[in-house]
Formats: sequence, C-alpha cells, structure tokens
Amino acid sequence: MSRYINKKFVKLEAYTPGEQPRDMQYVKLNTNESPFPPSAGVLRAIDKEQVSMLNLYPDPTCASLKDAIAGLYGVERKNVFVSNGSDDILNFFFMAFCDEGEHPVKFPAISYGFYQVYAELYATDYRKIPLKSDFSIRIEDYFGNDANVVIANPNAPTGIALTKYEVESIVKANPDRVVLIDEAYVDFGAQSSIELTKKYDNLLVVCTYSKSRSMAGARLGFAIGNEELIADLEKIKYSTNPYNINRLTMVAGVAAIADNEYYVANCKIIEENREYTQRELIKLGFRVTDSKANFIFANSDKVGGEELYLKLKERGVLVRHFSAPDICEYNRITVGTREQMDILLQKIKEILKEKEI
Ligand code: PMP
Repeated sequence: MSRYINKKFVKLEAYTPGEQPRDMQYVKLNTNESPFPPSAGVLRAIDKEQVSMLNLYPDPTCASLKDAIAGLYGVERKNVFVSNGSDDILNFFFMAFCDEGEHPVKFPAISYGFYQVYAELYATDYRKIPLKSDFSIRIEDYFGNDANVVIANPNAPTGIALTKYEVESIVKANPDRVVLIDEAYVDFGAQSSIELTKKYDNLLVVCTYSKSRSMAGARLGFAIGNEELIADLEKIKYSTNPYNINRLTMVAGVAAIADNEYYVANCKIIEENREYTQRELIKLGFRVTDSKANFIFANSDKVGGEELYLKLKERGVLVRHFSAPDICEYNRITVGTREQMDILLQKIKEILKEKEI
C-alpha cells in the first residue's frame, strides 16, 4: 500500500476472485463458468467489421442490447440497465442506494462475498443475517422495512433458492426500501422474479451473461426494474464510465439473446449433470444442499473440505473452497460437462480410497 492511498480505503479488504491458474490445464470447476462455448450467432457477430470499428466509441445508450433484453423478458428499454458484468451493477447499487445513515442494507451472512466488500467500500451500515442451520434463508428476517435488502437467488455458495412467492413477500414487506435480487444463477432451475418488477417499484433484479450464457469473458450483466430505479443506475454510470459496454460485447450480447434456445438447452444439460453428480456424491457418503444453481455445495465426514480441495487440485481438478468457519468443511463444485463430472467423481473415489488405506 502506498502512503498516498485515501485513508477510507486503508482497511478495506478487497474481494478475492476464484483462482484462474495458468500453470497447467485443470478441469476447472471453481468459478461457475459454463463449460459450453458461446452460440454460433455470437461467434459470427464478433466479425472483422466490428473489430475494424474498435477505433470508435460504442453506443453509450446501449439501445440495441437493451432492446434485445427487453424483448426477451417482456419489459421496455427504460426498464433495462446493462453493465460491465453484474458485479458492476452491484457496485452501482451500493453507491446509489446505500449509506451509513438512513439507508442501511442487509444480506444473508453466508452469500456472495462481494456484498460485504461493497458495503465496506461505501461505508454503508450493513447487517449480515444468519441462515437457518440447513443454510436456507428465513424470509421473515427480511420483513422489517428497515434496510435495503440484497439476496442472491439462488443463494451462493449454497445454491438454495427462494420461490417467486417468497421473494414477493419480502418485496411487499419493504415498501420504503430497495430489494435487490441477484439472479446470477436463476436459469438453472429456480424461479425468476423479473415479472414482479412490473408490479413493484422497489424491486431490482440483477442478471448476468457470465453463467447460463457462456460469456464470462465478455463481462456483461443487466438489471431489470422500475424506470426510476434504472434512471438512478444510469446516473451513476454516466458519472463513472459512460461507455461501460464495449463494442464487441454489445454485439455478442444481442446475438446471444437471438440464440436463446441454445442456452436454454445448455442449462437443461447442466441441470441433468447436477442431478447426476449429486446422486453419485451421495452414494459416496457426501451431503449436498438442494442446489438450483450450476454448482453443487457438498461436504463429507470422510474427508475435510480443505483437504478435498487440495487433493483434487493436485490431481488437476479445481473446485472452490471457502475458509469461513461455517462453510469450511464444504466445497462448491461447478457443474460442467458429463465428462468433467465423471473425472471429478473418479478423482474423489481415488482420494477416499487412499484415506481408507
Ligand atoms: N452475483 C453472484 C451471486 C455471483 O456468484 C457472481 C459471480 N462471481 C456475480 C454476481 C458476478 O458475476 P459477473 O460480474 O460475472 O456478472
């Protein structure tokens, strides 16, 4: 740290992204990316013509991209916000709507680590709400109308989802607060709350192209909500980085929506692979949560969480381990192709066998 850093940030603990190692080719099941490539339409869209126009700024209004997203979800352009990955929207949410005075925020104690980082970054008053012992969310804990609410649905890293009805009850109970539902993983079998944004002006649903749409490398996220909430996010965007979607990502994003069926089919495969892998893990003595996401959250009495993570890594399979005490015996395993899952299962069998000797 230099001696010049703003004193507000001296104690800030930055978010640690999952490993992106370059030392060898891993079966990479640690950052919830899609194992499938972008659709053929996306590959065609990023053509020489687009590349040759990189000397020109992209459209700051992102009209074509917003229209494509609005069309898919049955909303209007004014209800859509797009940004450089959904992390950016979370950042803007905390910047726009949370503070240390009248606008505190609460979120589940076990959830996406970035919520706390943003809360700290903006010196927001925040409360971490404990989960039930089975890692599910007690919705009544969010009924107070006393703080903004941020919930990942399905939650991460547990994969456990709330129903649309449960989300609605939280939104209804907080008429004077903004409720952000982070639907990064919703396309793998959970219920989306996007429809509810037409009925409630305090609901912001945040989505990403990084998981179900195979575009983590393009950095594209979007939010859907009431036009005034979206205008607030636009204000922050135009005060920080007006050209936040680059030209290539813009055309790729439009093309991905046109190829929606391809992605829906891929999500189905991931769901099947998730169910298959969970069944096999249970046979091996693991416990798994009821995940509706593209990852599995699993633990076993036969092998510690960190030990399993390290032994899998030695064998070329990368999963995500968190050191927080409540979840350190678990691993979060991204669901990949059937072949990748079979390699994972094979390596786990080897590790368990080794421990028996
Ligand atoms: N929300 C959740 C719950 C996530 O796990 C992630 C991925 N790390 C994100 C948001 C951010 O995704 P991205 O910025 O790639 O859109």
